[in-house]
Amino acid sequence: SYTGPSADEILAKRKTYLSPSLFHFYNKPLNVVDGKKQYLFDENGRRYLDGFGGIATVCCGHSHPDVVDAVINQIKRIQHSTVLYLNHVIADFAEALASKMPGNLKVVFFTNSGTEANELAIMMARLYTGSNDIISLRNAYHGNAAGTMGATAQSNWKFNVVQTGVHHALNPDPYRGAFGSDGEKYAKDVQELIDFGTSGHVAGFLSEAIQGVGGIVELAPGYLPDVYKSIRKAGGLCIADEVQAGYARTGSHFWSFEAQGVVPDIVTMAKGIGNGIPLGAVVTTPEIAEVLTRRNYFNTFGGNPLCTAAGHAVLKVIEKEKLQDNAFVVGSYMKERLNALKDKHEIIGDVRGRGFILGVELVTDRQQKTPAKAETLHVMEPDERITPPLCFTKEDADYLVDVMDYTMSKV
Ligand code: PMP
Repeated sequence: SYTGPSADEILAKRKTYLSPSLFHFYNKPLNVVDGKKQYLFDENGRRYLDGFGGIATVCCGHSHPDVVDAVINQIKRIQHSTVLYLNHVIADFAEALASKMPGNLKVVFFTNSGTEANELAIMMARLYTGSNDIISLRNAYHGNAAGTMGATAQSNWKFNVVQTGVHHALNPDPYRGAFGSDGEKYAKDVQELIDFGTSGHVAGFLSEAIQGVGGIVELAPGYLPDVYKSIRKAGGLCIADEVQAGYARTGSHFWSFEAQGVVPDIVTMAKGIGNGIPLGAVVTTPEIAEVLTRRNYFNTFGGNPLCTAAGHAVLKVIEKEKLQDNAFVVGSYMKERLNALKDKHEIIGDVRGRGFILGVELVTDRQQKTPAKAETLHVMEPDERITPPLCFTKEDADYLVDVMDYTMSKV
């Protein structure tokens, strides 16, 4: 049992000694002291079902014993920089990761975060093409360093500092976008950006296939194939950000871009791939990877033995426990149940996503699609995303939907 400081004491210390920009979920923030599979426990031993933490931290479940063992065994043996010495753990995980990739995406660069992965991908695209312009989507989130903040396109995540060389295309948002679900129409906007906003040559296009931070927006079908064609014609590379939606989460595919039938030139990932241990990766072709030999490229801890031991254990758990199938079966069931709630609760404007990356958007008026901000805080605190660990069960899905049903009846 837990004997540490209370939630209030921690909050007071955090306010004094930690960044004033930190925010927390819930009106009354949770002091989570234990985690097991899809459950979290607070300091009083109260159990919570985690319907959200799957993207942020864990894909195969909190404190999964295989991942815990892998980390402990590795730290007992040796932990050091990724770069300086040989270590089979790093190479083995890179090989396993490459085997999950289509096409000639076979070379892995490890990083410590998703931001770093996308920064590296953008830099490689610029070096490889000799062009500077990047196109990304409005409503995107790709990170918080100079390049990735530029590619991010939500004002609340963009500080007013120099972020040059990025153009933001119309978001192919089937619910709110001007062209509904017609992906090909939105794709024309990218061609126009190339024609009117650049020299005609671009470095690349960066997007998720399902926007996570942006509220689970699955790009309109048919969008990426056309955009990838335009980008390649303009000499650019196509970068897929799989930080949230990748890694078996969609259930139907291992990578979310696969649902659009495209093969990117560079793929980035992070968050859940280490099950809470900091780890990101960029995977690309041998030819593109060569650009980093023009200078020294060094990352002290990106993909160190401890983090890659965790990463490899996670991948094995996903396979051993058939978690992609689980995401498909339970996620589809949960989406069906959420859709059924729509008939009962006028406040539900849209149910979207696939597998275990689902979104429920609440509106005060279905015609006008006016966001129901206050109600969303009550029903879906912390936010509109349903992104559980991949081990979430049908019973968990029923519980989650029943609780939402009950809460919506009350607001
Ligand atoms: N890409 C996407 C799609 C993300 O959701 C995030 C994090 N929210 C990032 C990149 C950045 O990852 P990190 O916070 O690990 O830098």
